[in-house]
Amino acid sequence: MSAIPDIRTLMEQGTCLADPLPGHLRFSNLPRMAIISIRAGLRAYFSTYRIAGVSQVLSQGPSQPLKHDEIIRQESSPDYLEVYTETVLHLHYAIELALKELLRQKHTLLASSNLPHSAILLCRLLHKESISFKDEETLKSAEFAEALKRVITLANAKLLDGDLSIVINHKTLLEVLNTLRNKIIHRGLFVMDYSAFDLVISAHIIPFLAEFLYLPQFEIQANLAVSSETTPLWKYKKLACGIDPLKEIANIGKNTEHAWEKLALLKELGRAAYQNPLDAPESSLAPFGVGDSNARCRAEQLAKHELSNLNPYAYHGANEILKCPVCGLHSLVRYNDGDGNDTEVICTCCTFNVNRALGNAGNYGLPIDGFWSP
Ligand SMILES: [Zn+2]
Repeated sequence: MSAIPDIRTLMEQGTCLADPLPGHLRFSNLPRMAIISIRAGLRAYFSTYRIAGVSQVLSQGPSQPLKHDEIIRQESSPDYLEVYTETVLHLHYAIELALKELLRQKHTLLASSNLPHSAILLCRLLHKESISFKDEETLKSAEFAEALKRVITLANAKLLDGDLSIVINHKTLLEVLNTLRNKIIHRGLFVMDYSAFDLVISAHIIPFLAEFLYLPQFEIQANLAVSSETTPLWKYKKLACGIDPLKEIANIGKNTEHAWEKLALLKELGRAAYQNPLDAPESSLAPFGVGDSNARCRAEQLAKHELSNLNPYAYHGANEILKCPVCGLHSLVRYNDGDGNDTEVICTCCTFNVNRALGNAGNYGLPIDGFWSP
């Protein structure tokens, strides 16, 4: 084996995502990276029920307050901290990139925190002439708070393109999101309660993103799908039950009955939809039958095996195989406890997994067959 290159040489081995177009034609990669970051943030948020939500949903009611040891166990567990942090960082990063793109479209310098040292570069930028990728790299980009302030000031003065009232109207939300992100990044000493965090993301951030993502400035990237899929790049695959978890989450009102259970189920539907290994029926790969036949066979056989194995964990077994609302296979295994009571369902294909404490989805108006026998 030849000698390992020095660290600087290694760090330069990569591809500029906006190459090989010349400077004046080079597109901005900010919207695409923002979209990918939203995907990562949503995946992390949807995972919070599976990681920490089971006992939290049990404890949401006033008659069942959280015990101290439960708080220690849930919000301080490494798995919860990981998805909580990932959710905040990725969504914050996505919004920061998008704000900078709004500024960049007006002028490159508006998305930069200071003027370049090179007078030649400054002159070229002021005249909107093409600059090299290397020159562009020397510009220090504006941070979230600065970018937000500039977008709002310029939008109020009607100096940016289009209607940006969505940003102006959510100024406080974006400021507190930035504060939360800074608390995590700079000190790492603060973690929000599970239920409060749920409300921040589901009742504030998701409805904001649903509108913000579809501003004309981002619409093309937001609608772009990878060739084998039928949903946009940032989104999960379509669910077999026809529900769109994000749409339903954005519509959960404060006073909705069973709101916590409904939100928990929707998060788990979304998480499993991101994990679903099957091709969508309308996928461009489906006619060729190349993609998922192995995954289908494996999942269905595994589910049948679970049903015939009465004591998989020594204390409970599977008692039925149901149709999974996410991937649509008959691979949703229902387990029961030692007394024969249903406890949880787990899909051997897409990993969908909920606890009986959520009750049947029909109780809160979702068109999914009940999982639990009376
Ligand atoms: Zn499934």
